[in-house]
Amino acid sequence: AVRMAAVYKYYGEFRALTNVNMVVSPGERVVVCGPSGSGKSTLIRCINHIEKRDDGMISVNGTDLNGTRANIAKVRSLTGMVFQGFNLFPHMTILENCVLAPMSSLGLGRPEAEARAMAYLEKVRIAEQAHKYPIQLSGGQQQRVAIARSLCMEPEIMLFDEPTSALDPEMVKEVLETMETLAKDGMTMICVTHEIGFARQVADRVVFMDRGEIIEEAPPAEFFDRPQSARAKEFLAQIL
Ligand code: ATP
Ligand code: MG
Repeated sequence: AVRMAAVYKYYGEFRALTNVNMVVSPGERVVVCGPSGSGKSTLIRCINHIEKRDDGMISVNGTDLNGTRANIAKVRSLTGMVFQGFNLFPHMTILENCVLAPMSSLGLGRPEAEARAMAYLEKVRIAEQAHKYPIQLSGGQQQRVAIARSLCMEPEIMLFDEPTSALDPEMVKEVLETMETLAKDGMTMICVTHEIGFARQVADRVVFMDRGEIIEEAPPAEFFDRPQSARAKEFLAQIL
């Protein structure tokens, strides 16, 4: 489970997160949405300590992000993250991209790391491209590789930050389908996305943020059809 209690985050004087309280249980799928600059990326980046919270408490599967190196490493090993950009290493093949961290961080031997990589590449339906370089793949394929690469670390929780927003429209679907497959497998997921169809189908809960605060949260049918706050209504009017 991910627990955030009374979390505050500042960039200099600017307060990017204000009193964020959120619990994500094992197997739960949460979609985070809200206007640009509302703190969605900051929120999920605090969960794996890419950004450091300034106040409050964050824990992942019971490990408190209290700033100690050991705990940061533990939390990072529990969380996988996929960004808007695919962030694959361009000079390495798809397979090399996928075996790198399992070999260097988990200490797997090459045969085991490769077997694991091929299994996850199979899962995202891209195993036949394993020996190509990232540039030889489409954006959607690269993003599926990025997901597979994360899965190779066997995280307990996957964090997604607008994984489809840099993709051409025709490639969005295949990435969302991959994410749906993960959800069906029971993966705990926190996804920043404005893909309403995905949110409706996959999310257990939608968290709406504005100006660094969680304004409301509800199951998708409730949130999209009956938003409570004026800010959520305004946001939905713009994106729906
Ligand atoms: P978007 O939908 O555009 O991705 P977001 O909801 O993810 O927006 P964040 O990226 O979390 O928003 O940013 C929240 C606020 O914090 C914004 O006002 C942003 O300008 C500011 N901010 C984010 N990162 C930094 C940084 N490294 N330094 C200073 N300010 C930052
Ligand atoms: Mg963002």
